[in-house]
Amino acid sequence: MQKPRSGWAYRFELWVTPRRHWLDRIHVIMFFGFAVLTIVPLFLPIPISRSEHFWNNFALFANFVIWGLWFPLVFVSVIFTGRSWCGVLCPLGAASEWANRVGLKRPVPRWVSWRGTPIVSFVVITILAQTVGARDYATGIAEVFGLTFAAAAVLGFVYGPGRSARAWCRHMCPIGLMLGVFSRIGAVQFLPKRPKPGGDAYTEKGICPTMIDINRKHESRHCIECFRCVNPEARGGLRLAFRRPGREVAQIRDHNPNAAEVWFLFLATGLALGGFLWLVLPQYGVLRTMIGTWAIDHGWYWIGTSGPSWLMVVHPAARETFVWLDFFMICGFMLACAAVLTLLLSIATAISSWLAGRLGGDLAWRQRFVELAYAYMPVAMVSLVIGLGGRLFSAFVEVGVSGWIIESIKIGLFGLSVAWSLALSRRLLARQGLSGRRCFAAALPTVAGIGLIGLAWSPALFGIAL
Ligand code: SF4
Ligand code: SF4
Repeated sequence: MQKPRSGWAYRFELWVTPRRHWLDRIHVIMFFGFAVLTIVPLFLPIPISRSEHFWNNFALFANFVIWGLWFPLVFVSVIFTGRSWCGVLCPLGAASEWANRVGLKRPVPRWVSWRGTPIVSFVVITILAQTVGARDYATGIAEVFGLTFAAAAVLGFVYGPGRSARAWCRHMCPIGLMLGVFSRIGAVQFLPKRPKPGGDAYTEKGICPTMIDINRKHESRHCIECFRCVNPEARGGLRLAFRRPGREVAQIRDHNPNAAEVWFLFLATGLALGGFLWLVLPQYGVLRTMIGTWAIDHGWYWIGTSGPSWLMVVHPAARETFVWLDFFMICGFMLACAAVLTLLLSIATAISSWLAGRLGGDLAWRQRFVELAYAYMPVAMVSLVIGLGGRLFSAFVEVGVSGWIIESIKIGLFGLSVAWSLALSRRLLARQGLSGRRCFAAALPTVAGIGLIGLAWSPALFGIAL
């Protein structure tokens, strides 16, 4: 017999479940909010005067809300509330669900459910956002969000049997993939009241919009916290529970660890790093000149001409126009950064896993590798937020916050994430059976990997040139 429940989680369930129908209204408000922020700036002149700021120019305000508030806050929110953005606020996911209600409800095909699909989608959207200048131009923001919105709606319309399925959110959304990975370190989870053995499972037949077999749920990654499976008085379904942040990662072997997620973590960190570094590294300019000169010498004159505005920045009014050389350089540079960082982090993790095995750790080498790679999660997340959420910090500068305060905040956040990653690596190694000096020795290569991420992001974190 189940014990009567009490506590904050239970009280929250009692409050939220009768109000679940509010979600549709919230989604409609968010839909119009995002539409205003992405469409209205298209009809305004590009702000180029130094007297224009986010508080007196709507285009800059919209840019600040999206890149300065939405982007960093959604990432940070996963630590406290998991994927609440997805379940409660996201208009894209809602559009996919609405489309599914009236759609064809076809079974999800293998090219959609393939594990690499969201990684490809992430790579394409992240690089496109750079080449069309989504960080700076309203047209870029509108294109990236418009495309994602259309893809979410079309996929939702065609695929996903069951009631209000979200095939897009489960299989293809580049943002959801990231939020899902990082939600594992969050303080919120949904647990089966009557768990079934056998580990995590996928089903297109249940009530879950992201196709989780709810009684076999072991991981937070795909749960968008829609509360559809929660009924505080029922004996079955899921229940809300709070936990210490990072616990799922420290105990990752009980929560469906998988290599695809780890490769994504490494690749995404490297890709985001590339998207930041090409803007600030003088070496990038030198390389661009070398390759451009070589191409012209070989008669490739087309490389100096501009391409279509849906593929690259073409804004003569703002005195910024990319040519094909820029397009290929940005794509190549970002992919190269992703490949190099993935390789280096893999080497560091591989050595740690090998050492752990030599020093008495359990599991096979590959399993130890996958487990230990999760230790990078906090440092990767914070460096992404600080590096790519630079608009938030530039807004602080605009309102007069002094530089040393901003630097202190960044260094403090980064320091906390390093400490968290180190603590996770110790706990992961302890779970593999290592303690004391053996644990210290096996952790050293992972510590070097953590330091490497800090070094790579140092231009963003500390304003230091590489
Ligand atoms: S997975 Fe993507 S589209 Fe779906 S709710 Fe989350 S952010 Fe929105
Ligand atoms: S597991 Fe429950 S709360 Fe999570 S997404 Fe599925 S139905 Fe919603």
